Amino acid sequence: MKIIKFMSPELVNDENGKLSKGTVKDVQKLDGLKPEFKAKVDQVFDELTDKGYNLRVIWGRRTLNENNALVAKGMASRRSLHLKGLAVDFVERSIGYNNADHPEYNAAVQQAAEHAGVRWGGSFKSRWDPNHIQAR
Ligand SMILES: [Zn+2]
Repeated sequence: MKIIKFMSPELVNDENGKLSKGTVKDVQKLDGLKPEFKAKVDQVFDELTDKGYNLRVIWGRRTLNENNALVAKGMASRRSLHLKGLAVDFVERSIGYNNADHPEYNAAVQQAAEHAGVRWGGSFKSRWDPNHIQAR
């Protein structure tokens, strides 16, 4: 089987005709990111994809309204870097939000973030946010 990287422009269909890695929708969610940060996100995703993880993008850049809706639910900060296109939330498709049960995945994300020079939300002292990476 051909291994493709998350951000490959040639998204490869598997035998069932489904996109096997990052889908067009995932790629579109990264559109609003600042280019310099996006290049680092690509690096993180490629490293994790190379390790066999299958990622799904939850949030890239957020509008003020989108962010305020999450703030109201206690799920985001008012000064979130998502507003500036400097943060991304993503999950591994088979793990979802069960990060606590997958320390090996968290370690891989932390390592990939270090390699790319971005901050991993799992190292935040205020709130453990392992599905979030942001610009330094
Ligand atoms: Zn986030």
